Amino acid sequence: MTTSVISADTTPGAATAARGSIELRQVRKTYGDVVAVDELDLVVQPGEFVTLLGPSGSGKTTTMMMVAGFEEHTSGSVLIDGKPVDALPPRERNLGVVFQNYALFPHMNARENVEFALRMRKIPRAERRERAEAALERVGLGGLGGRRPRQLSGGQQQRVALARSLVFNPAALLLDEPMAALDKRLREHMQEEIKTLQKSLGISVLFVTHDQDEAMAMSDRIVVMKDGRIVQSGPPEEVYAHPLTDWVASFLGDTNLVPCTVLERHGSEAVVDLGGLGIGRVQDRGVVGERYAVSIRPEHLKFRPGAPEENGGTGTMVSSTNLGATIRHRITAGGHELQLRELSSESTGRSGAAGEVHVGWDAANAQLLVLEG
Ligand code: ADP
Ligand code: MG
Repeated sequence: MTTSVISADTTPGAATAARGSIELRQVRKTYGDVVAVDELDLVVQPGEFVTLLGPSGSGKTTTMMMVAGFEEHTSGSVLIDGKPVDALPPRERNLGVVFQNYALFPHMNARENVEFALRMRKIPRAERRERAEAALERVGLGGLGGRRPRQLSGGQQQRVALARSLVFNPAALLLDEPMAALDKRLREHMQEEIKTLQKSLGISVLFVTHDQDEAMAMSDRIVVMKDGRIVQSGPPEEVYAHPLTDWVASFLGDTNLVPCTVLERHGSEAVVDLGGLGIGRVQDRGVVGERYAVSIRPEHLKFRPGAPEENGGTGTMVSSTNLGATIRHRITAGGHELQLRELSSESTGRSGAAGEVHVGWDAANAQLLVLEG
């Protein structure tokens, strides 16, 4: 079993009050014809953990590079702790940085790697050494300071990188896919440790991942990016439960998307035509006659004893896969392939059975989403 090795107590001199706001105002970056980031407005509050989540090429790294000062923006402004830093080189922005491609120096041992940033800042040797040891201790590498990177595991190397980013007591941390190279188990472990560390330091973090589970697990707020723009931003539960578009819904976990047309509205309820699945009801508003998608998460699709009159239909089982804790069923109904997920412990034994099944959902669990594609 793994245990938490990152120390939760604060080092002497480390500020424990929340600090380190980051603000982007209308930040834009173009490379020739390519618009990598487009008029981005974003505020990370002191002590907040904000994650940029988006597919490859959505502008996450470019955004981080501009905040760090490694890349100049085409227009807009970046502020740290309320002060514009556009004219400041990276070293003077007081940010700790762990980027995926920001490797350790192979010819230096762990402690020298951590000390490097302090050497650049002209900190006296004895103090440097003391602070580097303390930072290594904090990430659970006390006693391993003499090892070269190749004598450390991938996880330990990432810890050195983390220690290096923390050693000068930065206002905020920028972490760009810091765990991409680690296996699943180690990654989950590091996720918890980074959260613990962030809370004990009261430091704000701007984090990047393309992994929605990681974003859900770590963030106070998720900022979903697509094509250099923010498509939605909010607490993880909110973005998951109330995606604004069909694209966000399917990017943030599995979902069943059924195209529909709004037939009529009664207050906040809309009656929709689900094609082969008949009539549905949703709580969200919509414009009568317009096309949308109804989204039903696989955990909200349920087997029904009989054919539902609305919000569901009758179909046939395609496959059932036991995933351990849950069972995933694929069902075709009304011309749609639907996914139904149930807890293995609550399964009623339909697993593997072929033939007709009735499935449905509660109106409260269905959402009308704008089609984005
Ligand atoms: P992400 O980190 O979300 O995968 P990036 O910020 O790396 O996305 O890239 C955003 C867009 O900008 C992509 O279309 C990418 O090809 C482009 N881009 C990034 N860096 C450069 C560069 N140095 N020159 C040209 N285009 C670039
Ligand atoms: Mg990237």
